[in-house]
Amino acid sequence: MNYRSFFVYGLALCFSSVLIAQNHHFIKREQMVKTQLQARGIKDPLTLYSMLNVPRHEFVPKNLVDHAYKDGALPIGNDQTISQPYIVAFMTQTLQLKSTDKVLEIGTGSGYQAGVLGKIVDSVFTIEIIKDLAMSAKSRLENLGFDNVTVKWGDGYHGWPEKAPFDAIMVTAGAESIPKPLLDQLKNGGHMVIPVGPNDDVTYLVKVTKSNDRIITKKLFPVRFVPFTRNE
Ligand code: SAH
Repeated sequence: MNYRSFFVYGLALCFSSVLIAQNHHFIKREQMVKTQLQARGIKDPLTLYSMLNVPRHEFVPKNLVDHAYKDGALPIGNDQTISQPYIVAFMTQTLQLKSTDKVLEIGTGSGYQAGVLGKIVDSVFTIEIIKDLAMSAKSRLENLGFDNVTVKWGDGYHGWPEKAPFDAIMVTAGAESIPKPLLDQLKNGGHMVIPVGPNDDVTYLVKVTKSNDRIITKKLFPVRFVPFTRNE
C-alpha cells in the first residue's frame, strides 16, 4: 500500500466509524421515541419528529453520553438537570405548535429543550439565569447548527419584551406562581406550559391559554423540577 492509498484508507475508516457512531445514536433515539414517548401517548407528529432528530447525547456531559437516551433526567452541572425525554416531549406537545411560531423558553439549561423547539418552529428565544450554562448552551446550539435559537443570559421572570409577543411560552423551572410579564407577552390564542407550586410542596405542570385577553389555566399532573430562581 503506497502512502496515498494508506491515507485514503485511513480517511474512509474514520468516516465510517463516525457514521456508525451516529447511526448507533439514531437507533437509540428511535427506541426512545417508541418506548418512552409513543407508548405513553405522545402523538403530535412535529414533537415526535423533533425528538427523533435532535441529538440528545450532544447536550449531556461527556461521561453521561451512554445514558442520554435513558428514561430519566440527568445532571448538567451547576446543580441543574436536563429533563426526562418524556417530560420534554409532553411539554412540547402541550404547546400545540405550528412551524411559523415564535417561542420563548425560560430555563435554557443544556439547550436541549430549546433545540427540540427549534426543530419545529421558526424562531426560539431562550433565557438562562446561570451565566456558565447560558454560554455553553449558546455555543453548543451554534455548533449543532441551530441558527434559529437565540440564547440570552438573564432572569427569565421579565421575559423578553423586545421580542414579544410570543405564540407560545415554556418555563422549565418550578415557579411559585406564573410571572405576570410572561402572561403579558403571550399572544391571544397562544399557550404556555409551566411547573407551578410552592417550593417545599408538590409542583404541578400547568397549561395556560390566553383567549381574548382572558387567562385560562389547567392543572395537568405533578412534576419535579429545579426551582425558578431570581437574580435580585
Ligand atoms: N430546559 C433545560 C433544563 C432546564 S433545568 C434543558 O433542556 O436542559 C432549569 C433551568 O432553569 C436551570 O438551568 C436554571 O438555572 C434555570 N432557571 C431557573 N430560574 C431561572 C430564571 N429566573 N430565569 C432563567 N433561567 C432560570
